[in-house]
Amino acid sequence: MRVARTIQEAREALAAPTASVGLVPTMGALHRGHLALLEAARAECEVVVASVFVNPAQFGDGEDLARYPRDEDRDLRMLEEADTDVAFMPEAAELYPPGFETWVDVAGAGEGLEAAARPGHFRGVATVCLKLFNIVRPDRAYYGQKDAQQIAVIAQLVRDLNLELELRVVPTVRDEDGLALSSRNAYLSAEERAAAVALPRALAAGAEAHRAGGDPAAAACAVLAAESRLAADYVEVARWNGTDVLAAAVRAGSTRLIDNVVLQGKHA
Ligand code: AMP
Repeated sequence: MRVARTIQEAREALAAPTASVGLVPTMGALHRGHLALLEAARAECEVVVASVFVNPAQFGDGEDLARYPRDEDRDLRMLEEADTDVAFMPEAAELYPPGFETWVDVAGAGEGLEAAARPGHFRGVATVCLKLFNIVRPDRAYYGQKDAQQIAVIAQLVRDLNLELELRVVPTVRDEDGLALSSRNAYLSAEERAAAVALPRALAAGAEAHRAGGDPAAAACAVLAAESRLAADYVEVARWNGTDVLAAAVRAGSTRLIDNVVLQGKHA
């Protein structure tokens, strides 16, 4: 595996023009969810590139940028074990040098839900993803269903700006009790972790209510209301890329968790 810390090094590592390139963008603190993306890329690309970059532009004031978990050595070991070809690990100043002034704003998918809760978040996401696409020039880019609105935003970006790459969506990887894996789960106390399982349970109840012809958001809210250690931020049905998704964000103490489930059946 080659480790590229600068744009120049990444371009040199990817100089071979004929191979198909798969990009897995991450913020590090890697877990089995990220590994599923790498595995999907490995299965169909000759060259697999993982980026590890805690993108300051997608964190708002007062969010967890400073304390976001970072463990470069562990990430490198995991990337090596996953048979990654190139790890792109730039410093923030490499991607946002002094004088950087161009931002990508995606309307539509980039409004409401996460965008309403985290103003500027998707502007940071869309901008860094477009930069990564321009640096790595992937044929395919891999994203997790866990961040469903992010996928909708990137799909809109790819369509609107005529980017020549395919997006691949990988199903959410979960712990045994259903909690979606997330780097932020490391923040949870034992008690918060126990409470957090109400989030996937609420979404499952919502999906079930939907199948039965009921109101998915109301059913999910009822489950969340019974768990006093979680505070719901939003529980909403969204239509992204032609698919109805029940998406929710909750707070467990100071940790914000998001998850979603695709709605199938009666009203889909
Ligand atoms: P992050 O490092 O949290 O920014 O995530 C990087 C990529 O991994 C994004 O495309 C996420 O949607 C994806 N991802 C994060 N958690 C999971 C998970 N539990 N299952 C599948 N993909 C995930």
